[in-house]
Amino acid sequence: MIVSTEGIILKIFPYSNTSIICNVFTKEYGKLTLISKGVRKAKNPQLSILQPFHQLELTFYYNKNRTMHILKEADIINDYTHIRCNFSSILFGTTINNVINKIFEEDFPNKIIFRLCKKSLKLLDSDIKKNKVIFLFFLYHLSKQLGFMPSYKSCNTCGKKFTNDVIFSSSANSLICEQCNLHSANDLDFVIKFSTLSKIDLINITHINKIFDIDLTYENMSELFNFFIAFMKSNISPMQKVKSISEITKLYHNE
Ligand SMILES: [Zn+2]
Repeated sequence: MIVSTEGIILKIFPYSNTSIICNVFTKEYGKLTLISKGVRKAKNPQLSILQPFHQLELTFYYNKNRTMHILKEADIINDYTHIRCNFSSILFGTTINNVINKIFEEDFPNKIIFRLCKKSLKLLDSDIKKNKVIFLFFLYHLSKQLGFMPSYKSCNTCGKKFTNDVIFSSSANSLICEQCNLHSANDLDFVIKFSTLSKIDLINITHINKIFDIDLTYENMSELFNFFIAFMKSNISPMQKVKSISEITKLYHNE
């Protein structure tokens, strides 16, 4: 049947002499693979539309029993051109796309995560200087929507409310107090300052349109990044396959 839905192009690759295959994240059908036939022939305007980050209105022949669907039409809603003007924004945008591409199976729609992805790209497009904040917000809320909410108010081992710096315990995959860490210290553990912990509450409750109001220092951001990534890699195993995360890591650790 012919269907229409909004979608974001995650990745494209050439197929045969004239076609391209697109991984798209759609609002109504989740992640899908679409083939655009003949699009690489001369003067086909659709080729410039089918590019990563583009938010499109897509019309395609949908067949639930197939893993690939044939694209009929694509109209641009937003091309997020500014993302492409800055190397780090391209890296953040690409990593958002790669994360979605790796963690979702085909045909699992999730409108909240679709909106999160779309909003995050829109913010990356609007302010290149804030891309580290945007990506932290994306990671935290993605994990929460997938059902993995890090506990950050009390020690996962003894239950005591945090009042000091805490340790991310890689063996427990959670935050624990310094006393509990004495018994189970591990090379992969790292410290998160108490002042950074309070920022998680703000990331949790602040509306995405207001996230630039959150006051995050360089140190806050690198600690939060370490925590969210370690926590997610352990709970959401496809995260380990997103190669661009290692490039992003450098951006959080170089001022
Ligand atoms: Zn404890």
